[in-house]
Amino acid sequence: MTNQGNNLDQWYGHYADRTAGLAASEVRALFAVASRPEVVSLAGGMPFVSALPQDLIAGAFERTMRDSGPTALQYGSGQGMPALREHILDVMALEGIRGGVDDVVVTTGSQHALELVTKLFVNPGDVVLAEAPSYVTALTVFKSFQAQVSHVAIDEFGLIPEALEERIAALKADGRTIKFLYTVPTFGNPSGVTLTWERRLRVLEICRANNILVLEDNPYGLLYFDAPPPQAMRSIETDGVIYLGTFSKTLAPGFRLGWVLAPHAIREKLILANEAAVLSPSSFTQSIVSEYLSSVDWKAQIDVFRGVYRERRDAMLAALDDYLPDLSWTHPNGGFYVWVTLPENLDSKSMLPRAVKELVAYTPGTAFFADGNGRTNLRLSFCYPTPEFIREGIRRLSTVVNGELELLTTFSQTAPLRTVRPNENIISPPANLG
Ligand code: PMP
Repeated sequence: MTNQGNNLDQWYGHYADRTAGLAASEVRALFAVASRPEVVSLAGGMPFVSALPQDLIAGAFERTMRDSGPTALQYGSGQGMPALREHILDVMALEGIRGGVDDVVVTTGSQHALELVTKLFVNPGDVVLAEAPSYVTALTVFKSFQAQVSHVAIDEFGLIPEALEERIAALKADGRTIKFLYTVPTFGNPSGVTLTWERRLRVLEICRANNILVLEDNPYGLLYFDAPPPQAMRSIETDGVIYLGTFSKTLAPGFRLGWVLAPHAIREKLILANEAAVLSPSSFTQSIVSEYLSSVDWKAQIDVFRGVYRERRDAMLAALDDYLPDLSWTHPNGGFYVWVTLPENLDSKSMLPRAVKELVAYTPGTAFFADGNGRTNLRLSFCYPTPEFIREGIRRLSTVVNGELELLTTFSQTAPLRTVRPNENIISPPANLG
């Protein structure tokens, strides 16, 4: 018998089982408040698109409409425009990746690529291996296809190969089907950590030996601040790696253009899945981006972004050193994020309302785990606010963290009262602060 719905949603009983993974996060409402101008948001991952001169895009737009307007306004191929795919090869070559124009499938951002790849491979109950912590909206995709996400630990050098081997062995012993390993090996979201070259080789070796595909998601690789990072995993291994790229961070996310470079057979299925989902990725934005890449010094523009984000990373690390010296955090050499570890008895999720009240926002660590871990972590992004706001945001955060620590000290000092008034639980610290 079908569920008859409820007062809030008449169609409650009609949803597919897979939508169980689509629950809105508890912190969503807070983020609405956090987007007010008086709040310093270190929560989102919005690229600083104001560093992209608008006239560069306006020029590309005008030339596109003048020279190939009807094509730009028409449906296109499910694989994406050949001219853009040529440019994508040049972009990937910067990270050591070689491929042919036919190997690239253009998608509506790399987010859509994540959805398509998962749709192709994951049956309900299949295992997806993912770094701990992992990109939050990838986890949402995996959950929405009813995958079981199994996390593998990382350290400051990225995925730990021994942990990967152990996890695979345990899952296999359990009779589980592992479909792929999802990883952001370069300037990870949320960790900021980069997988070393030696570990890239080792992780690929382990996956090859166990017949496990690697899904390499690389939005940040070109946004390095010091030396370039190790080359992409896809540059080492072609048959066992599906590579995801995007123009969202090196150009602008509003174009919604990403791509997949996949082994041949997978690519064919991806094109069919892309057609089923969107018919063709936007001809309009593909044409403009293609024109931009043909006529503008796009590498110089990426250098501009690197400079902007380097300055902001420096501002964040300096402010953390100055205001929160007792915490620990990662030291990213590129990308957008710093991953902070709080003292053991603090809880980043329950602390967030207080932070927003103090006019600073961050993303609680639990968002990046499928298994409820991450309570003592938080992600700070330095991509959007100016260095001055970043510093002020960290100062406000230090007020919140120190306030929480003081509260804990107070409660632990009054703890004996509990024995005097056993029914009065108002003085007991909440369980999640323990
Ligand atoms: N993967 C990772 C790791 C990301 O950080 C993001 C954006 N935050 C995406 C994929 C999706 O990016 P887009 O769809 O804009 O290409």
